[in-house]
Amino acid sequence: MSQLHPTPDELVDYLHEELPAARSAAIAAHIAGCPECADARDAEVSLTQTLRAHARAQERELPPSVVSGIWAQLRSRPPTVWERLSAALRPAIAVPVAIAIAAFLFFSIKVAHGPAHAATIDAGYYVENYATLDAATPLSADDPIPQTLANDVKPR
Ligand SMILES: [Zn+2]
Repeated sequence: MSQLHPTPDELVDYLHEELPAARSAAIAAHIAGCPECADARDAEVSLTQTLRAHARAQERELPPSVVSGIWAQLRSRPPTVWERLSAALRPAIAVPVAIAIAAFLFFSIKVAHGPAHAATIDAGYYVENYATLDAATPLSADDPIPQTLANDVKPR
């Protein structure tokens, strides 16, 4: 009997009732007489339940109302960036901001299929650029603003 232990994969398939009936019956009979495989089956059942409970818990942690609240807050922030941009005349700040906004405008124009859809994507793209601005200043303060970028930085 001990030579006929089902493999772990077989055990999973057995628990999910994906084996042919004959093989499934053979494994059931084997488990009934094999404490080792009965333990393995119990462990697999426990793991499956743990994973399902974890997945449900994660769904509860971020309900749709919270997600929409975050998006609403993000959408209300771009005016702050425009204020910061007009106040930030030093190239060290203005250049990365200009690059981010040029990319932001380019991207938002490319994907603007409708007002609601575009607003969602704009907010996400904005956050991405905003995070990189806070993380580092990629260009030297002595670099001039490229003319093409300077032209793109006018607020809409
Ligand atoms: Zn066994």
